[in-house]
Formats: sequence, C-alpha cells, structure tokens
Amino acid sequence: MSHVMDTYARQPVAFVRGEGVWLWDEDGNKYLDALAGIAVNTLGHAHPKLTRALAEQAARVLHTSNLFRAPWQEAAAERLASISGLDEAFFCNSGCEANEAAIKVARKYGHDRGINEPAIVVMENAFHGRTLATLSATGSRKVQAGFEPLVTGFVRVPHGDLEAVEKIAANNRNVVAVLVEPIQGEGGIQVAGMDYLRGLRALCDRNEWLLMLDEVQCGLGRTGKWFVYQHAGILPDVLPLAKGLGSGLPVGACLVAGRAKGVFKRGNHGSTFGGNPLVCAAVIATLDAIRDEGLLDNALRVGDAIRGALATQLAGLPGVVEVRGMGMMIGVELSQPCGEIVKASLDAGLVVNVTAETVIRLLPPLVMSEAEGQLVVERLVPLVRARLAQAAPQASPQPAAAGR
Ligand SMILES: *Cc1c(COP(=O)(O)O)cnc(C)c1O
Repeated sequence: MSHVMDTYARQPVAFVRGEGVWLWDEDGNKYLDALAGIAVNTLGHAHPKLTRALAEQAARVLHTSNLFRAPWQEAAAERLASISGLDEAFFCNSGCEANEAAIKVARKYGHDRGINEPAIVVMENAFHGRTLATLSATGSRKVQAGFEPLVTGFVRVPHGDLEAVEKIAANNRNVVAVLVEPIQGEGGIQVAGMDYLRGLRALCDRNEWLLMLDEVQCGLGRTGKWFVYQHAGILPDVLPLAKGLGSGLPVGACLVAGRAKGVFKRGNHGSTFGGNPLVCAAVIATLDAIRDEGLLDNALRVGDAIRGALATQLAGLPGVVEVRGMGMMIGVELSQPCGEIVKASLDAGLVVNVTAETVIRLLPPLVMSEAEGQLVVERLVPLVRARLAQAAPQASPQPAAAGR
C-alpha cells in the first residue's frame, strides 16, 4: 500500500533514468520520450550543460529567500525580457502560480482604475491550473466539480471567437483583462488563429484591458519561436510561463509590460521559494541552450515533419478527425476516446499522452532529431491503426488535415 495520496491514474511504469529523448524503466526497458514530462523537459534528459549548471549551483548555494538581493533572478529576468519583448518578471514555482500572479495583476489593475469588481474574460476548454482561482478560470467542469464555491470574476466565451469578446466589451464595464492560451494544451491542441490573437490585441488596446497570454505549455520555443504571440507579431501585457522554463526544475514566471508594468508594488505578491538560485540556474542554462543549439529552428523543422508524416500516413483513415498543431505541439484527434493508446504506446516503447479524451498529444523535447521524430511516427501510426480497427466502423470516412 502506498502512502502517496491517490490523485493520479498513473501508468504502471517508473522511469528511473534518461538521456536525450530516451528514458529507461526499472527493468532496463528503453522508451522514446515524445511527451517531455508534459512539455517540461525542454532539453530532454540529463543535458550535460544543465546538469553541470545545477551541480555547480547546488555546491555554491541552494536558497537564500527573497529577503536579499538575487543576482540570479536579475540574470534570468534579463534573458526573459530580451527573448519576450516584455519588461519585468515575477518568479514563482509553477504554472498555476504564474496564472495566479496574472489574475492578481489584472484585479489590482482594475482596482487602481476604480473598478471594484474587476472581471477577466476566459475561454471554454481553457486550462490554467488547479488552485482555486485558476481552476475557476479553467473551462472544464471536471476540474471544477466538487470545489465550489468557485472564485468569481470570470466571464467565459468560446475559444477563437473574437465577436463574443467584442460583445462583452460592449456590455460589461467591469472587464479588465483577457486570459487565453494561444494554443490550448489540455483542451486538445487547439490553435487560436493568429488573426484572432491580433484581434484580441486590438480589442484590449481599445478598451484598455490587459492581454494575458498563458504560454505555460505552448511557450519557450516549442512552436519554433520563443513564444506563440511572436508568430502573430503582437506583444501581450502579461505572460504567465512555467513548464519548459527550467527544463525539469519547478519554476514559473509572470512577465509584464505596458500597462501591466508597475501594477504590483512592494508587498503585493510574494513566494518563499520563487526564483531561488537553483531554479534560476536551470532557467539560464535552458534559455542559453535553446539559443546556442538552434533549438527554435529544430523544434519547427522536426515538429512539422512529425505532424506532416502523421497527417500523410493517417490521411483518409475513418476515425481520424484531424492532425493539428505547431512545431513540437502536436495533436491527433480521433472520433472516440482513446486513453488506452497511452499504455499500448508504452508497450511499444513510446511515451505519449491523451488529453481531452480523444486527442493523442505529442510534446517532444526540443532536442529531438529528425530521425528520432520519424521513429515516433513509425511507432505511433500502427497503434492508431490498431485502435481504429478495434473500434466500431464509422459511418463515413473523414479526411485528416495537416492544419496549423
Ligand atoms: C500545465 C498548465 C498550467 C498549470 O501549470 P502547473 O505547473 O501544473 O500549475 C497552466 N496553464 C497551462 C496552459 C498549462 O498547460
């Protein structure tokens, strides 16, 4: 009997060692990692530069608290500002905390402008975390059920529907911000169009709202640029980050610019662990390795090659709804729940995940090579075919599309 609280349906395998895109279990079986710990292991496993940076920092000092100067935070924030175009970073320990900071910034921004009940526009199918405020912002009843009363002050609209947000602008004087994932991850790799992002930017400017882009999953190089909004040629006011930021170390950040800058004053927010020397060493090593090893280009090239090959090889198969994504963020939507494919993949030496019940999700480390990407496709396609062959025959075949 385990004394770990049973909050996860865990696969019966324990990975005990990794190198690059490979993982080994306790029995020495080898797996190709196309999940990266849910978009976390940016540099794959045991990257020598990260390992060295962590060992050196661990030998020097692990933690000093935020009561003292923190040159490692200054160095990490300087890099984040330069790659993002935003101005300042607040360091925390996870994605939900980065979003909590964003929500607090939005509320404070509202109060500073005399809006006493500030509201934030959020999306259907969104995922922002499991704390009370972030699960309230999340658009999934499964995440919320049992935890009512929810935090108020969120107005929900369909993801990708600019008109719905425009309608709110006309009717709700309390709105202060829009919080949206440029690509919904947990929601099933749903890519908001670049026109949509540009439309939201313009709408936020017209109404003096904050545009808050949750790039916790899709950001930090995964789509071939540092951030998805850079594909749209815009800048957000608030940018919550985490997952891939420390390539496996628990670290998050909430970046601000424009009208969100200067909203938090001393004493408005804090974190005991936030931005400690060890996690900041991980951030610096991760960002430097992405730049020095050309991982933005690699993510785009290899990710698009994987998506293209999957779309080609699954084209026309009844039961395949769509192959979609950008770079190293890939979803294969089937017409029925396909959770068992996770276990079947493990048996075939491949680590993937299923989200939103029907979407096989690939989030490979950014260091994956083209040959390794082809191996992902070779291992996954037969499993999808086998799964669909078991399933009840579909009424009419639907084409697979390599949508962006
Ligand atoms: C994972 C995720 C979060 C929550 O991050 P945690 O580190 O689990 O708190 C928030 N937003 C998005 C888009 C995510 O994918």
